[in-house]
Amino acid sequence: MVLEVIVDISTAEIDRPFDYEGEDMPLGSRVAVDFGRKHTVGFVVGKKQSSEFHDLKKARLLDTPVNSEQLALMTAMREKYFLRHIDVLRLFVPSKLRDERDPELGRIYLSAAADPYDEEVSAALKRAPRQRAALEYLRGVEGEFLSVLTEKFGASAVDGLREKRFVRESSVREARVPLRTLERENKQVTLTDDQRAAVDAIADGKGVFLLHGVTGSGKTEVYMTVIERMLERGKTAIMLVPEIALTPQILGLFRARFGDLVALMHSGLNAGERYDEWKRLKEGRAKIAVGPRSAVFAPLENIGVIIIDEEHDSSYVSESNPRYDTKEVAKMRAEACGAALVLGSATPSMESYLLATEGKYKLISLKHRIAAYQLPEMEIVDMVQEFRYGNRSLFSAALKDGIGAALGRGEQCILFLNRRGFSSFVMCKACGWIAKCEDCDVSLTYHKSENVLKCHCCGKRYHALAKCPQCGSTEIKHGKTGTEKVAEELKNLFPDVRILRMDNDTTSRKDSYFRILNEFSTGGADVLVGTQMIAKGHDFPNVTLVGILEADSALYFSDYRSSERTFQLITQVAGRAGRADKKGRVILQTYSPRHYVFRFGRTYDYEGFWRKEINSRMVTKFPPFTKVVRVLVASEEEQAAVDSTRSIYRAILEIEKREGKFVYIGAARSPVTKMHGLVRYQVLMRLLPEVFERIMPEIYALTAQYKPKKGSCFAEIDPQSLI
Ligand code: ADP
Ligand code: ZN
Ligand code: ZN
Repeated sequence: MVLEVIVDISTAEIDRPFDYEGEDMPLGSRVAVDFGRKHTVGFVVGKKQSSEFHDLKKARLLDTPVNSEQLALMTAMREKYFLRHIDVLRLFVPSKLRDERDPELGRIYLSAAADPYDEEVSAALKRAPRQRAALEYLRGVEGEFLSVLTEKFGASAVDGLREKRFVRESSVREARVPLRTLERENKQVTLTDDQRAAVDAIADGKGVFLLHGVTGSGKTEVYMTVIERMLERGKTAIMLVPEIALTPQILGLFRARFGDLVALMHSGLNAGERYDEWKRLKEGRAKIAVGPRSAVFAPLENIGVIIIDEEHDSSYVSESNPRYDTKEVAKMRAEACGAALVLGSATPSMESYLLATEGKYKLISLKHRIAAYQLPEMEIVDMVQEFRYGNRSLFSAALKDGIGAALGRGEQCILFLNRRGFSSFVMCKACGWIAKCEDCDVSLTYHKSENVLKCHCCGKRYHALAKCPQCGSTEIKHGKTGTEKVAEELKNLFPDVRILRMDNDTTSRKDSYFRILNEFSTGGADVLVGTQMIAKGHDFPNVTLVGILEADSALYFSDYRSSERTFQLITQVAGRAGRADKKGRVILQTYSPRHYVFRFGRTYDYEGFWRKEINSRMVTKFPPFTKVVRVLVASEEEQAAVDSTRSIYRAILEIEKREGKFVYIGAARSPVTKMHGLVRYQVLMRLLPEVFERIMPEIYALTAQYKPKKGSCFAEIDPQSLI
């Protein structure tokens, strides 16, 4: 039999099926093949009786990781997003299956065979602190994969323990429970009438549902009950959550309710753990896949429902190769499986709500918070006024009083800093000079603890400045308000306050995120100061005050989504206050208090905001009424980038001539003119949806045709940021 095989090598030239000889096997099977001089694996995507080529090489069957439904989805994705076969295949198959070795082999499991506190053992490990640490660790976890232990403590420490026979080896593959979760109990609740109606509609329906409900309105409870119903019918479910950061929360809840039926698909797991979870789903031992966007590719059969929580979140769009939109993929998959698709949010995206008002999605609203939970009152403070009255601190009088009062009652506060936007400039007050990265053309951020400037784009570090390189002034404003600065001022105002900080710096170590959250939730601090990371989904019953310090920094972003993002953010942050029986309060500080975002945000009037915003999008012809398409050209050589951009621009102008006028088209340098040493140019367009559908294949073809040398060229659709 002749098999058409995609080999696991990602280059444009090789990205097509090659003929091999092999036994009859299902499509989606994985085979071992020789390709050129390379020994690799491939995936069977087609079968035929004969080939035009002679002397075909042999393909040997390994297993069948992909089923026909998934193959069809791959094809649809490839056509829609102009992706390579192999790049799409890799989304569906864990990396353990990317070479010929048996993924089960070589997985040695170690457990402690000696007590590190035993006198003799202690003596033997006296000069080997890493071995000792590894042994202590093993005692604590009751066992660990060799690979993981080596990763954590280094090969020599592990070898040392093995030589001394302080560890036991086995090949037991029993998957450990991967990833720490925030411990949750399984609360059995009686659904409210609204919740029950939502569950009934979803469980008995088909198509796309938009579940709109403020934070604390019980959406998660609806998700879980819908999934219960699906399991009862012998079906499976996919539960998508925005970012890695949020997964442990939901996972904790789901584990409490569904136990081992839940599998986690998560990039934070190591390759072995990922494979184990994938396999549990594949073999039907687990029936619910939970995870960020990649979980949409879970190897499940018989899917009853796909749920996308916080559907407006930008992390559902993959902005590096392979580029895809999880919502669209989920829609395709749900349709093919006859499953319901549920999009849940307190602040649905402009587009989803539009589709709901047009009847294309079924709108389900949970209008109220669960009985005891009240939405906190939101106060808008005008910081320009504060400044006029001589208050130069980060804290308005209202916020300062609020914090004092909350602390006095033994309650907790959250202070939220919006770190998107350009608030972290290092700027000369005398001449306005701004420190930028040489390679990326983005402004640098000052890191006080290390006293350096860092580029958040490429990570490059620079010395901190005492003097302005342009005018020599020493009035350098390290213009950020970082969580450090907030914590510092807070400490001055309330010397006894216990503060925890959470941002990218404090959470770069793997476990610190959970450590901080746990510490705060168990009352280990009075105030949590943080960035975007604390905006989402955490339940802290003792928090009664939330302060939003720079509510408008996202508004100054030159992006049509600024207002939408700001509204989402303040709604979400506000949801952190008053989740229990205590009434919450939100104090929002802004320099533009009359902006409509705050007017509607203050009363949680999503619909009011949506109507105002959608109207302005319609008038200005922005998404969802148009599609923004950007062709980004990057190259080490300026001229190559310019030439390629010019060719693409001309070709697109020809298309415009044929199709009628675009809403907008322009070619220019990208806002960030250089990144990772590549010069960047772009062709930016706004297209009406019909035109977009028609011409996208041509635009993709142009990106391949005019790829500059020493560089790249790709098309982005409605990019999340236009830097
Ligand atoms: P959301 O996902 O909309 O933010 P959750 O589902 O997390 O809301 O619900 C908020 C809180 O209310 C949770 O602590 C949850 O356990 C509780 N809850 C949800 N539904 C009910 C109910 N029907 N009865 C009592 N408590 C409920
Ligand atoms: Zn200067
Ligand atoms: Zn840089």
